[in-house]
Amino acid sequence: AREPVLNPEALPEDVERALRPQHLSEFVGQAEARANLKVFIESAKMRKDAMDHTLFHGPPGLGKTTLAQIIARELGVGFRMTSGPVLAKAGDLAAILTNLERNDVLFIDEIHRLNPVVEEILYPALEDFELDLVIGEGPAARTVRIELQPFTLVGATTRLGLLTTPLRDRFGIPTRLEFYAVAELERIVSVNAQKLGVKADAAGALEIAKRSRGTPRIAGRLLRRVVDFAIVEADGVVSQELADRALSRLGVDALGLDGADRRYLNLIAENYAGGPVGIETIAAALSESRDALEEVIEPYLLQQGLIQRTPRGRMLAQKGWTHMGLTPPKTRTD
Ligand code: ADP
Repeated sequence: AREPVLNPEALPEDVERALRPQHLSEFVGQAEARANLKVFIESAKMRKDAMDHTLFHGPPGLGKTTLAQIIARELGVGFRMTSGPVLAKAGDLAAILTNLERNDVLFIDEIHRLNPVVEEILYPALEDFELDLVIGEGPAARTVRIELQPFTLVGATTRLGLLTTPLRDRFGIPTRLEFYAVAELERIVSVNAQKLGVKADAAGALEIAKRSRGTPRIAGRLLRRVVDFAIVEADGVVSQELADRALSRLGVDALGLDGADRRYLNLIAENYAGGPVGIETIAAALSESRDALEEVIEPYLLQQGLIQRTPRGRMLAQKGWTHMGLTPPKTRTD
């Protein structure tokens, strides 16, 4: 067995890249998506065609970027990565598209934030591998058509609802990523510990997994923080006792909720008697953007059944009251 490397310098902050699974077989969880992708990848390889355009949607940190890279690697093609907000002008996208080689994968993160002008030129590119570019302005303007190599667009979004219908319809393989089960996260934590050369016992890995909000990125981050405590304050081994102590000190509770989550729940409980309360009101009261609440905070609280979304706003569910150690106000019957 490899000696544990208990040297903080062996843990650079961008280990995230080093920890990324490289092949579909190493990718833990998302069983359904993985099984389907395996078929689509193999079929594309047998046909020597570009794989169909693929859209990953789901909360941040669930593996959208990782899967896009895996697809390119498994297909044996090049990988280009950009994001919606970065592509300001049609020319930015055109430059990327014209540089793609046959069957390459182009990954566009945050694809719901594409500029409409850019999105417009993407349509013919996706459908017919053609670009229609307007050159010049006013009466002298003319359109030139450029043939592109066939390619696979992999789009990622945390907000499926913000995608325009025409864009959404152009993805042959829409795939929703789900929060991970504790057992899957436990496996991810164990593998990551091994990759980092850190000793984590099963109970320690399980404790981190339970408190990772169903999210591999958070599992990776919490593991690194727990390792910090293990190195400085213990014998370097990630045990359950140590993980529990470290995570509690970091303000991560038994369900994996952090300060921001608890502020959200507390606000609804204490200021709005459990709701319903509108999302804009919550955002203003917490000085958070509505987007951050809807993309990052709420999905896990909803999945855990701590809150409910109703037409009149957000409400604390029974489990939310219990988790916060509070009693819901009695409805008056007199
Ligand atoms: P997203 O693009 O959905 O925000 P990423 O693909 O960037 O998420 O993943 C975030 C981190 O979590 C990366 O470090 C990645 O290695 C890790 N990760 C994601 N999914 C898995 C998985 N299924 N198994 C192991 N690690 C994963």
